[in-house]
Amino acid sequence: MEQSLQILSDVSIKGYNTFGVAASAQHLLEVSDEIVLLNSLYELRSFKLPFLPIGGGSNLLITNDLEGIVLLNRIKGIRCIEERHSEVIIEVGGGVIWHDLVNYCVERNWGGIENLALIPGTVGAAPIQNIGAYGVELEQVFEELTAIDLETGELCRFSHEDCQFGYRNSVFKYEQPKRFFIVRVRLRLLKNAPLRLSYGRLRETVERMVREENCSLNIATVSEAVCRIRRSKLPDPSVLGNSGSFFKNPVLDAKDFEAFSKQHANAPFYALGDGSYKVPAAWLIEQAGFKGYRSTESDAGVYEQHALILVNHGNASGNELLTLSKRLQATVREKFGITIAPEVTIW
Ligand code: FAD
Ligand code: NAP
Repeated sequence: MEQSLQILSDVSIKGYNTFGVAASAQHLLEVSDEIVLLNSLYELRSFKLPFLPIGGGSNLLITNDLEGIVLLNRIKGIRCIEERHSEVIIEVGGGVIWHDLVNYCVERNWGGIENLALIPGTVGAAPIQNIGAYGVELEQVFEELTAIDLETGELCRFSHEDCQFGYRNSVFKYEQPKRFFIVRVRLRLLKNAPLRLSYGRLRETVERMVREENCSLNIATVSEAVCRIRRSKLPDPSVLGNSGSFFKNPVLDAKDFEAFSKQHANAPFYALGDGSYKVPAAWLIEQAGFKGYRSTESDAGVYEQHALILVNHGNASGNELLTLSKRLQATVREKFGITIAPEVTIW
């Protein structure tokens, strides 16, 4: 029997964004089957309303009630497409929780995404900003994805090249936002994956676990170490509303970096190997005096243990959080001459 989609109207989306910002959506549709969505698209497009794809709402700042049709991705399933002696290709439903996928792969000793443990959100959103942490980015294991073109109603495949991945970026983030609904993602994982321990705190934690807890030097230990570090330093959105890092780390060319480092010899930096340098935005915001800042006029603030994370202490509106973010940007620009750009998608 053909399933049909249930469209809800005037829905609160406070529970669908990890900032916990109150707003409503004109219409909301939970999608658990791509065929059902494809079959309904002709009718849905006749409403002439924008589509707004959402996964876990963990990289979104909502500043207005949403006019249009929110498409909640709840498409499940993990399938092994191809298995060879050294690698495996899997296809994963866009609505699978990212961390569940990491656990699934670590349990089978399929390596490549263990450094990305505990990143909130869904698999379908992972390519949008080419999620990254602890020296690993999604694109390193990405094979291809399948998306529904919401403008034409067609199913399309995107290769690695088509996605135009960059630092917290892809073709979907700025060039074609909201046009494609990602329904499936293919990843290539390794059975004997090399461990990626270039980030100091991760390496130290893994070494300590091996030394003091008899843990093996393998991807399960790396994944567990990442979880421990993240739990110790990042706020849990179910306790304190946030969207992770609000800004991207600025990258300076050699000339700008030389001028910056002359004035701020104590600033941390990472050479990217192509003549440019990454400066941690958290350091810039902390130096600007905003770590732990809490607005006197609203519930918007900056996390006390991590200056890159804006937090909602209760009833901050999206606009109050946006106003605070603009104040941070302006102060950093004034103090350091550096522009920090939001990583979070702002609606
Ligand atoms: P959403 O927030 O729902 O959506 C984000 C964007 O993707 C929106 O533009 C939305 O329209 C689009 N989108 C979502 N699903 C689809 C789909 N199926 N098809 C098309 N478009 C879609 N990010 C990192 O990269 N690294 C980290 O280490 C990291 N740590 C975090 C820690 C915390 C505590 C939090 C709260 C966030 C963190 N993030 C991190 C940000 C966030 O978790 C990721 O960007 C994640 O991939 C967002 O997934 P989501 O399903 O919640 O996407
Ligand atoms: P951190 O370890 O305090 O380091 C600060 C910044 O320095 C990071 O943003 C990281 O850049 C960079 N860095 C650290 N070690 C590096 C190395 N060896 N080589 C190159 N760059 C290095 O960072 P953190 O805030 O606790 O986060 C740890 C990791 O989790 C980072 O990779 C971060 O991106 C990720 N994370 C992301 C979010 C998010 O919402 N996007 C939230 C929490 C954590 P990169 O960010 O480029 O890696």
